[in-house]
Amino acid sequence: MRWRGGDTGGGVEDRRGLSGGAIAGGGGIVGIVAVLAYVFLGIDPSTTASIAGGLNMGGGAEQRGTMGTPKDDAGLFVDVIGRNVDDVWATQIKGYAKPAVVLYDQGTSTGCGFGQAAMGPFYCPNDKTVYLDLSFWQQMSTELGASDADFAKAYVIAHEFGHHIQTMTGASQKVQQAQQSMGQADGNRYSVALELQADCYAGVWAANAAKVSDGKVAMEAGDLEAGLKTANAIGDDTLQKRSGGRVQPEGFTHGTSAQRMRWLQTGYKSGNPSACEGTFDGL
Ligand SMILES: [Zn+2]
Repeated sequence: MRWRGGDTGGGVEDRRGLSGGAIAGGGGIVGIVAVLAYVFLGIDPSTTASIAGGLNMGGGAEQRGTMGTPKDDAGLFVDVIGRNVDDVWATQIKGYAKPAVVLYDQGTSTGCGFGQAAMGPFYCPNDKTVYLDLSFWQQMSTELGASDADFAKAYVIAHEFGHHIQTMTGASQKVQQAQQSMGQADGNRYSVALELQADCYAGVWAANAAKVSDGKVAMEAGDLEAGLKTANAIGDDTLQKRSGGRVQPEGFTHGTSAQRMRWLQTGYKSGNPSACEGTFDGL
């Protein structure tokens, strides 16, 4: 992925190095927040507990980091890619308003409760913010077998921005509403449709990245393959197998490896978000 020299957005909030207030402060846990944060990975039983715990409201104060363009490479990368994703969506959606982006490590307060690094990257619709713990990149390639290419990371970022798009279009709210009157298994199928659509939106971003940046941010040879390798590694079926469990389709929340690859590719080949409406077909 070409990205150095790309325009920066300058609006990344860097909370790295701040202690994770809420938990460290031992503030009273007041119960699980009913609001959904959109995590990047399907949930296996061992992480479910940490996510449920992660969504508990801590009593700690809200954290504020440094706003701007981070000076380190990893932070700069997020700022450049985020700016580029914003620029792409501004050409696709009338009145597009960009999400906030927060870098953190360990844990941090969010509009969806307390966020923990164990959750992986996530988007919180309440405060319209993408939360990234950059140690996830490492985990993604070493533990999950995903690609360590820059595009694999950019795909994750663009996927989370995809959930922001769904919050703007109302798709997320529609799904949440529909899920209230259905059982867990059916509800999960709607979650899968939403997640695959976010993958597809990541592909739409990639297809248009160069166009909106005069080629300063651009796909290079091998990038699509790196993205597909990553999508393959993070499919629900693959993660379930990896965690030593049986593959249980009714527990899928993000889609199979084949589905995630297919929709990333669909978005990339079309470059058009309307191609991503198909993830809801048949529901
Ligand atoms: Zn997601």
